[in-house]
Amino acid sequence: MADDALRAAFDELRGRLIEAGHLIPCGVDGVYGKSAEYERVWAGVGAAASRLAAPDGPVLCSFPPLLPRVTFDKVEYVRNFPHLSGPMFSFRGDDRAHAELIRRLDEGQPYADLLQQTDVAFTPACCYPVYSTLTKAVPPGGIVFEHHSYCFRHEPSPDPMRMQAFRMWENVRVATPDDVLDWRSTWLSRFAELFDRLGLDARTDIASDPFFGRAGRLMAQGQRAYQLKIEFLVPVFGESEPTACASVNYHLSHFGELFDIRTADGDAAHSACAAVGSDRCVVALFQRYGMETDTWPSSVRAVLWP
Ligand code: ATP
Ligand code: ZN
Repeated sequence: MADDALRAAFDELRGRLIEAGHLIPCGVDGVYGKSAEYERVWAGVGAAASRLAAPDGPVLCSFPPLLPRVTFDKVEYVRNFPHLSGPMFSFRGDDRAHAELIRRLDEGQPYADLLQQTDVAFTPACCYPVYSTLTKAVPPGGIVFEHHSYCFRHEPSPDPMRMQAFRMWENVRVATPDDVLDWRSTWLSRFAELFDRLGLDARTDIASDPFFGRAGRLMAQGQRAYQLKIEFLVPVFGESEPTACASVNYHLSHFGELFDIRTADGDAAHSACAAVGSDRCVVALFQRYGMETDTWPSSVRAVLWP
């Protein structure tokens, strides 16, 4: 699709979501308030994913959408995705520096150089907070976590599917390579079933993360070559521009080695995560079935609110 046509499609869908009150614009692309009905759909998507996960007995946990800076740096987020990153800055100066800050604010001048980096960063994905809590050996048979939270990525866009603050639902499996690979294929089937029952016409594709720059392109090629990331793409803006609404990611022993997480036999644990872009699924459902959930097919309503 030509850029102009795609931009018009973004504006059209975002306009309808805003007009219906489902998205409440906050003055910057990709940051929205949500209607009660939107939140009801969002909760239904998460609950449907949780029901699929239930046979694994995941450990439910909740983390704030912040990572300690040490973890943020350890997972090399700024190195690999500087353009998406959200390290947090605040003021630590004295009275003189504060006076200067006030002066700049009064004059509408930039003040970033008066701020200093804090010990936290916005988390860009739901699974990062989990690994640093797993410094011991995982039990025989491994472990599965379930986590749902807001994430931040600096990617302002008029596309209502691409937010700066968005929610992700994830299950994370940490175990031996065989167990993790089995679990990954189970989730490929579960997501196919979920999107099928929601009538969202998803297809899978091998994908890569948006690593920055030339070195990043090599990392992305490696990720593709080993099929480490598989996305579920929904044709919200047409078949030629499908949007990832979920992904299944295999990290090999990357996080096991980084955080010294061991399996019962002492080897570095392998890990994988199954992630649903829960806000993206909500927007895809409104686009597919219209702004009034009362008129949605009963089969879809039954998946969300059984
Ligand atoms: P994309 O390729 O579209 O940028 P991604 O591959 O970077 O997405 P993942 O890191 O796999 O995304 O994140 C898991 C899921 O979170 C995605 O499949 C998607 O549904 C959702 N997601 C990612 N980025 C955003 C965003 N900016 N706004 C809303 N949802 C998002
Ligand atoms: Zn993940």
